[in-house]
Amino acid sequence: MKRSPFSAIAILAVLGLSLCAALSRSFYVQDTLAIANDFQGDIRQAAAILEREVLLNLEVLYALKAAIEVVPGMDAERFKSITDGILERSPAIMAFAWAPAIERSRLADFELEQQRIFPDWRITERDADNQVIPVAERSVYVPVQFIAPLEKNRPAMGFDLASEAKRRKAIEASRDTGRLVATAGIKLVQESDNQQGFLVFAPLYEGKPSTQAQRREAHYGYINGVFLVGELTNQAIGVRSNASLLFQVVDVTDAQPNELYTNADPAAPRWVSELGFKTLLADVAGRTWQIQAMPSQDYIDRRRSHLPALIMVSGVLFIALLVIYALVNVNRNRALVASKDQLEKMSLTDGLTQLANRRHFDQFLEQEWARARRQTRTLSLVMLDIDYFKLYNDHYGHPAGDQCLKKVANILQGVVRRPTDMLARYGGEEFAIILPDTNDGGIIAEACRAAIEKAAMQHPLSDVSNRITISAGVCSIVPGDNNSLDDLKQQADAALYRAKHAGRNTVELC
Ligand code: GH3
Ligand code: MG
Ligand code: MG
Repeated sequence: MKRSPFSAIAILAVLGLSLCAALSRSFYVQDTLAIANDFQGDIRQAAAILEREVLLNLEVLYALKAAIEVVPGMDAERFKSITDGILERSPAIMAFAWAPAIERSRLADFELEQQRIFPDWRITERDADNQVIPVAERSVYVPVQFIAPLEKNRPAMGFDLASEAKRRKAIEASRDTGRLVATAGIKLVQESDNQQGFLVFAPLYEGKPSTQAQRREAHYGYINGVFLVGELTNQAIGVRSNASLLFQVVDVTDAQPNELYTNADPAAPRWVSELGFKTLLADVAGRTWQIQAMPSQDYIDRRRSHLPALIMVSGVLFIALLVIYALVNVNRNRALVASKDQLEKMSLTDGLTQLANRRHFDQFLEQEWARARRQTRTLSLVMLDIDYFKLYNDHYGHPAGDQCLKKVANILQGVVRRPTDMLARYGGEEFAIILPDTNDGGIIAEACRAAIEKAAMQHPLSDVSNRITISAGVCSIVPGDNNSLDDLKQQADAALYRAKHAGRNTVELC
């Protein structure tokens, strides 16, 4: 079966749309990659700024340690005067503390000394519920003796830094190495909300020890800076109010990562985790910090280009126009083909009887003659003529004559039923039958004559009988070198002529 042009148009439209979608998709993917790159760039830059801010703050602690080491003795007044100015300029530093290392044998004396200034001064530690409890027995205590600013940090006064594991670990590491050592993220004793902080210890020695053993021997206390990670981050990059990205600082030194700061709820649905990005900061006093960031859907949407959508929309429009154009053309073509078919049919059909006309007859006869010649088959031609038809017209009038011609055509068509045969109106009241591959055309001719006679159409003026009759001449020939198509026609015509002379309503063979 011939494929309809509509399915071809549909297939082309689907192909076009798929191509458009693929193109649009590829631009979309590239766009997403570009946004991810931008985002990574933003975060790397933010990480670099934060890194610098952290190092600057640690540098402050170094400077303080250097200043204190010049004159080793310390009291509350001196500590306050040294630290006040620095604290004012460093909002991320929550406190500086001075914490001496006190051996157990000196514990009681030390407490008494302090109580002379602050009567309720005590060395304390905290239980699991963060409640103040008396200190347990250990060989060395590292109590906060001076802290600045005092008002905000009073709860930390007297707190034994060695009583808590994270702090003790950092204290011992700094004592043994002589370096600044930071704690893991911790909840600060003096902080009431949930802000994570970290402490950095700078060890103080008598003299200049160079080995671990000498350092353990010579150390007498620590300068301790208390830093707020959230403050540091906001000082550096001000992400607190930025709702379009998630910015987290995570301490990844230990097996269990520890979130130090997050600017927003990481569980919120607006973060696009596929574009999440992580980058490490340089060493933070012995600890490894990682920035973990994710953009929000909004961050991405604001940067997304309109190109993919534009491609899709213009592609769809273009294809829609093409489809409309194609459909209009198909319809126009169909109309053209239909009218051409009709013209062709009209040019080959007799208008009155709807039989093949003379032109069609001539074409068909020529074609069948050639075929019969090729195949050496017999071709029969029957010529039929209504008897005394002029008289019929005279009697009933021309329109009735036309009706009679139509009826005769119908009856003959009923006899000539083989699809390979052709019944044609030869002209006027004459018909012709081409019978390919037929030896006995006379039988068909006789059947036609009998059928017309049997139809008993009244023709009172006929000399043969009182009804319509036909005469027929038949010729059957095997086309060859010694005959021609004209012979066939002439002989059939001659036979018809003989039939007329033989008294009509009869069939003559050639
Ligand atoms: P014959 O028996 O010798 O054939 O006599 P005839 O009268 O049939 O022959 P003739 O050739 O003298 O007349 C043919 C007539 O057929 C003439 C014409 O009026 C009529 N005729 C030819 N074509 C048409 C037609 O289309 N419609 C009508 N109504 N009559 C037609
Ligand atoms: Mg005639
Ligand atoms: Mg006639």
